[in-house]
Amino acid sequence: MNNLTLELEARLEATAIHEAGHWHVSVAFGIPASMKIDVDDEARMRGGWCFRDFRGNRFEAACIGWAGIEAEHLLNHVDRLRTPLLFPLTETTIAKWHWEALYFLNELSDSDRQHIVGHPDTLETCQHAFRILSRKVREIGMDAKLLADRTRIERGQKLAALREFEELKTAAARWAVNPPKISCAERAMHLENYLRNMPADAPERLKFAPLLDCLRRGEEPNE
Ligand SMILES: [Zn+2]
Repeated sequence: MNNLTLELEARLEATAIHEAGHWHVSVAFGIPASMKIDVDDEARMRGGWCFRDFRGNRFEAACIGWAGIEAEHLLNHVDRLRTPLLFPLTETTIAKWHWEALYFLNELSDSDRQHIVGHPDTLETCQHAFRILSRKVREIGMDAKLLADRTRIERGQKLAALREFEELKTAAARWAVNPPKISCAERAMHLENYLRNMPADAPERLKFAPLLDCLRRGEEPNE
């Protein structure tokens, strides 16, 4: 794997864990959610989401908002472009982690940030999300793996479609410059096949006789 692939893979895994974190806290509250990482037609990953339409109170929303970034830190799989890895997130470090985390809220998605600050007690919501997530570490890891696999497949399909499209474009360009040639002998053969089953007095026989002669002699007809 080259560096770009490694970086993409690291981001994919961190994003999948982030979304699985949102998802697990949502379902713990009984709020329906589904996980997805968007892949556009150019096969670029466009970030993940867990809701199209969120319904829940401000406390639940704030806990769910925290859950994405907390899951990344809890599973020690942080998207380093988004947040620095400060220190391990554990039951004893959670309060300190929360105060530090408030400094990088701007790096989170708009909806995550708005959900988090939508409840006044950010420490309480952060701790509540942690209590749910810390009991689900194994499940989060497995769900994230499935989400990452699903995304890899979707990305692979889009890449293959792109490659096919590029090949078609290249082939079309080659044809435009250099149309495939068919030899006189081949054209004579096709014409003979066409005329074979026609009655002896069919007008086509008369019409194509000069062309057929010409092709049989191996001469390019002037069309
Ligand atoms: Zn998020």
